[in-house]
Formats: sequence, structure tokens, C-alpha cells
Amino acid sequence: MNTSATQKMDIQKVESSRIGQVDFDNLTFGSTFSDHMFECDYKDGAWQNPTIRPYGNLSISPGAKVFHYGQAVFEGMKAYKDDQGKIWLFRPEENFERINKSSKRMAIPEFPHDLFFEALTTLVKMDKEWVKSGLGNSLYIRPFVMATQVGVSASPSTDYKFMILTAPAQAYYTGDVKVIVADHYSRSANGGVGAAKAAGNYGAQFYPTNLAREKGFQQVIWTDDSEHKYLEEAGTMNVFFRINDTLLTAPVSDRILDGVTRKSVIDLAKHNNIDVDVRPVLVSELVEAAKNGSLKEIFGAGTAAVISPVSAFSHKDVVYELTKPEDSFSTRFKKELMDIQHNIGEDPYGWRFEVL
Ligand SMILES: *Cc1c(COP(=O)(O)O)cnc(C)c1O
Repeated sequence: MNTSATQKMDIQKVESSRIGQVDFDNLTFGSTFSDHMFECDYKDGAWQNPTIRPYGNLSISPGAKVFHYGQAVFEGMKAYKDDQGKIWLFRPEENFERINKSSKRMAIPEFPHDLFFEALTTLVKMDKEWVKSGLGNSLYIRPFVMATQVGVSASPSTDYKFMILTAPAQAYYTGDVKVIVADHYSRSANGGVGAAKAAGNYGAQFYPTNLAREKGFQQVIWTDDSEHKYLEEAGTMNVFFRINDTLLTAPVSDRILDGVTRKSVIDLAKHNNIDVDVRPVLVSELVEAAKNGSLKEIFGAGTAAVISPVSAFSHKDVVYELTKPEDSFSTRFKKELMDIQHNIGEDPYGWRFEVL
């Protein structure tokens, strides 16, 4: 497969920016998009016509395979502006590798490395005014790929569209997150697509999440599909448990997405001399720890919210409340991560990537 970027990018700028119409203090996450978007089509066995053009609607056949078979994958990443006006990405190579890993699982052709980075950096530079400085502010970046071949036969598409949208985002307060430990529905299964950011994974979570909401919980802690014995992810985030002073999280697998925030938290913890145990975590262990008082914290980790502390969990209709300890790990990791992302703290890990 030819994955080299041979064509020059076509750049069409907006005539006038929409930025003046946006209330940056009242953004709903991911619903206001910046001026430009990137688009590149795969046909005749090659990615072609890379274009940046004004954000706007697409014209696409209702017969396109994405609508019928959900052959689509996505990524989520952010750009941050520091106080000097410099713009940074956080570990973008990880997102690049992951979108291609997700694509491979969904029989979508991989996207070329250099074109991904050229598109990403050009787009962010063009819409640099949309990246606001200040801790918690960012430009959310959504690369995605969809099957565009027309035809409702159930076979992989021959044609695809790769796009990148960007959306200004404010600090994302999840508030008091209460979760239900899943004992019937599953997010993923061995041999399935749980490790891929495949569009349909998220659609499939909405119904069980709605059921949890009806009971007063915001999210579901997903467990293994066969026995619901092991704790795997929280909503669309990886999940960590602190029992006494040890941090526990499940190893990545077919069922668990390899989150960039997750792997960064593990590194931060090790750097802080916190014991990290990456191993399957039992539901029974969590319940036991909650009962005997050794369960100190539960938190989700993902790009959108960075770290989301969980204040209570329910298992088999029993609710266990958590009180945030003084020396909260989640508060510490969130601060350390955000300081690195916003170029406030040292970055001994080499995670920051300068765009502008
Ligand atoms: C995207 C995602 C995460 C978090 O990954 P990050 O790279 O940290 O944003 C975790 N779990 C699932 C299921 C996801 O889709």
C-alpha cells in the first residue's frame, strides 16, 4: 500500500472568521467547530487530494457504507496555548499510531504519518486564534475516517474519507461522578473491537448508560463480558483504583483501550514513587476494599476530562460512597498532567510537541 504523502495540500481559507460569534465562556463540549477542517479521500488504492477548507457540511450518498455498517474510527486529542502564545500538542504520535491500529481492526487503510502531522499542524496553525490560553482551555481535535463507497453489500469499502475537525473546549467539569458496575451489558469482548476507537463502540454504550442514568448514576464501569468479575473501563475512560496507597488499573487487552492518559498516569505515578499494580482488578476486591475502608479513590482517565474522580459506585444495588482523601492522587495527577500540557511545568518525559 502506498501511504506516502505525495500531493501538495490544497488550502482554502475562510473569507471571514466565525470566531467573533463564539462565546468562549459558554462552550458546550465538542459542538462549536473552528473555521477550517481537513479532508482527504482514499480511492483507487491511495489517499488523495488532501484539502483544508472552511468547516461545513458534506455531500455524501445515503448509500455510503459508513451509514449501513459503521465502518468508521476516530481519535480525540487536544492543542493547548501557553501564556507566551505558543501552541502544544500532547503525545500526538500516540494518537497517530492508534488511529491506524483502529483502522486496521476495521479493515480501513492506514493513513500516512507525514500527511497526518502536516494536516494536524497546518490546521491548528490556521485556527490558532481558536486555541485559548488558560489552564483547562484547549482546542479539541477530532480526526476520523469513514467508509464512503456507495453500496449496501456487507463488505469493506473501497473508498474512505479521512477528516480532522477542531472544536474549542473549556475545562471539562464532570462534577460528582457516580458509577454503576456493569453486571449484564458489556462494552467489549475478547476478539472484538473494544481496543479500537471504532464509532459503533460508543453507540452501543448509550443504552446501558441511559439505564444507569435513570437510576441516578452518570456512568458505567464496564466489566469483562464473560463473568463480570473484572473491572475494565469507566464510560469512555480508562479507570484507576487506589487501595491504601497502591494504584491499580487493568492491563490493556482486546477489551481495553490503550489510553494515552492512562499510560501517562502510570508513568507519573512511577515517577512519584507511587506503587502501581497493572493487573486484572476484581469487582470483589473493590467491594471488599470499600467495606474495610482501604478503598481511597476511583478515577477515570481520558483526554476530554483528563481525570474524573468518582464519588460513589453501585454494585448489585448496594451503593458505596467515597470521600476524597487529603492527599488525593487524582488531584495530583490532574495538576501534573495539565501543567505539562499547558507548558507550565517541566516535561521530563518529552510528551509536549510544539506546533507554533
Ligand atoms: C479514547 C478512550 C479512552 C481514553 O484514551 P485517551 O487516549 O486517554 O484519551 C479510554 N477508553 C476508551 C474506551 C476510549 O475510547
